[in-house]
Amino acid sequence: MAMKSFEAPRRTLMGPGPSDVHPRVLQAMARPTIGHLDPAFVGLMDEICALLRQTFRTENALTFPVSGPGSVAMEACFANLLEPGDKIIVCANGVFGGRMKQMSERCGAEVVMVNSPWGRAVDVSAVEQAIKDNADARVLAFVHAETSTGAASDAQALAKLAQAAGMLTIVDTVTSLGGMPLEVDAWGLDAVYSGTQKCLSCPPGLAPVTFSPRAVARVTERQTEVQSWFMDLRLVMGYWQGGAKRAYHHTAPINALYGLHEALLMLHETGLEQSWARHRAAHERLVAGLAELGLKLLVPEAERLPQLNSVIVPDDIDEAAVRASLLNEHGLEIGAGLGDLAGEVWRIGLMGQCADEAHVDFCLKALGAVLAEQRAGAEVSASA
Ligand SMILES: *Cc1c(COP(=O)(O)O)cnc(C)c1O
Repeated sequence: MAMKSFEAPRRTLMGPGPSDVHPRVLQAMARPTIGHLDPAFVGLMDEICALLRQTFRTENALTFPVSGPGSVAMEACFANLLEPGDKIIVCANGVFGGRMKQMSERCGAEVVMVNSPWGRAVDVSAVEQAIKDNADARVLAFVHAETSTGAASDAQALAKLAQAAGMLTIVDTVTSLGGMPLEVDAWGLDAVYSGTQKCLSCPPGLAPVTFSPRAVARVTERQTEVQSWFMDLRLVMGYWQGGAKRAYHHTAPINALYGLHEALLMLHETGLEQSWARHRAAHERLVAGLAELGLKLLVPEAERLPQLNSVIVPDDIDEAAVRASLLNEHGLEIGAGLGDLAGEVWRIGLMGQCADEAHVDFCLKALGAVLAEQRAGAEVSASA
């Protein structure tokens, strides 16, 4: 079979991630590969860590990008903070809270679940009660921005409860980093992980993490070895924090790191708070436009994420056909519902480069056209 180079189709990515990648980031990734222990590369690694600290709003020394997608950073947090027999309280209000439960169980932890309805924030008073009932729990885990539903949880309030009880927090900020206020130090979050392909507008494959001194102490005081060699922070630290004496652990994805550096640089050239405000403004424009199309959002207004909007599919509409038309006729990708919400919602992402007026207007116009086509088609076949 004759094969030729892959030509990616042109798409606008307004689903739950990946989001559109700026040409500057793609160009950075096309630069020549150098050795991962080259002094020039070591300098780049240090700059990436510094930029990540600014993005997470933290002074945490142990802040770096894990080599792998968001789920690898997620697993790294659970694998390092939990020992067999530890008790953890996991909050679930969507798919990713469920994944936290699975990872905790695989670490041999005893898991106490606090379930909140899908489409709502994590219920802070239910967590308060669970902490009272389980004073021996060592960790509280929750998702800041639940991408499967579009709900934002009050990370600050949840972390405060955990701290008062002497528990560490594991916080999923995969979709929140860069897209909405996140204050790792001011809110006292402990093990925090994210991803590159959501509001940082980078290709997938790297996952920023940051660990508070308390989280690092928990890891260094472990009685048992971390089950995963690759994710063992005590080994990875020597690579990311070794400075000139950096020790080989694994080969970092060099060109992917060029891309992350460029994306973080762009974010900080325009400003982190400006980015938060831009996501908020794009969200408000989208919600107003959706209302004009007669469409409603799943999440109550006060709990909505700006960067991920779950739109309720009207009863007379074939949701999969709409997504197919958007992709085929408009080159526009939006997300389907996940888990319990499959077939019930579309998920429109306004992440990173996609959080601007041009993207919002393009999406609204395409969605309006596709809905009108589908309804006109239904009328024709009804009258035939
Ligand atoms: C996307 C996402 C993940 C998983 O990231 P991957 O890069 O797909 O592994 C985890 N949590 C949340 C909230 C996400 O949105």
